[in-house]
Amino acid sequence: MTSAVEQRGSAAVTAVSSAEQKTWCRPHLLGLEDLSRDEIMILLDTALALQEVSTRSIKKVPALRGKVVANLFFEDSTRTRTSFRLAAQRMSADVMDFFVATSSVSKGETLADTARNIEAMGVDAIVIRHRSSGAPHSLAKQVKCSIINAGDGSHEHPTQALLDMFTMREHFLPQGRTIADLHVAIVGDVANSRVARSNIWALTRLGAKVTLVGPTTLCPDSFAGFGVNVVHSLDDVLPHVDVVNMLRVQFERLTSAAFPSVREYSRFFGMNEQRLSRCREDVLVLHPGPMNRGLEISSAVADGPNSAILRQVSNGLAVRMAVLYLCIGAASFTSRNTPSNP
Ligand code: ASP
Ligand code: ASP
Repeated sequence: MTSAVEQRGSAAVTAVSSAEQKTWCRPHLLGLEDLSRDEIMILLDTALALQEVSTRSIKKVPALRGKVVANLFFEDSTRTRTSFRLAAQRMSADVMDFFVATSSVSKGETLADTARNIEAMGVDAIVIRHRSSGAPHSLAKQVKCSIINAGDGSHEHPTQALLDMFTMREHFLPQGRTIADLHVAIVGDVANSRVARSNIWALTRLGAKVTLVGPTTLCPDSFAGFGVNVVHSLDDVLPHVDVVNMLRVQFERLTSAAFPSVREYSRFFGMNEQRLSRCREDVLVLHPGPMNRGLEISSAVADGPNSAILRQVSNGLAVRMAVLYLCIGAASFTSRNTPSNP
């Protein structure tokens, strides 16, 4: 007999199946750089289909029942880890959290050994955050289970960029505007930001116009090689953009003084009410969190009507459900065996 949860789940999963059927055949999500436009759209459309699950009184579908997801986080994170945990649980997967400080890695075990041991417990996916760029990619070569990148050094943070784009679509699609119609400013510590890199790859692939803004020390002109504009005056750019994505200053990654003082940084690159008044009326303000309030963004803007910062957090759940579903869901095992589109 079909359970109530299963019945409720079937509608969302049917919607998902038609969205994902065509071309998703990756077991891993390592980054957005290599994804095609179609693959990014499959992720966003699947997230849209699954978003509705979080609005139900019983927030659960059986799509990943019997699957096991392991969170392996080598860098501090509360929100991303919790978001992945909840996403997996909403799809009925079991979740294990590994804390590096208490794991054998701190006793000298290599990353690959740790992952192989976790995999040997029957895990279907490892969600990894690591301070070294490329750690998820090398792990993907050493284990058979799915690897999901939850942030590697300053390289990529694919689910953050996907939820950023999901939030842009949610805001602009009702006005008939797609991502390709948008001009997005990514502001601040671009050089050290994995969020910026993942956004750059995906937004440009989807046809958005992207302008990077920041001091030359944190926003080098060399980024122009990625098909984006690079400018150093925030005030000049603001009147022309639809989205302002404010990056956190990555103090933990700064190797030398990148700006004279926090007050100076805030004066030139902080988003505040006065700067907001230079923007288009319906400009969307994003921030990946955690915020340095009063530095890159003022509380009045962060908590104001143009801010979608809490929507980003909610949307992160739907995006991570979609990623897990596509990479380890039953449907993907079939499609993985069929040749991918050219
Ligand atoms: N907010 C950051 C992120 O979403 C760090 C965290 O996970 O707490 O990646
Ligand atoms: N939470 C994002 C990350 O982990 C952004 C940040 O920490 O600044 O990259």
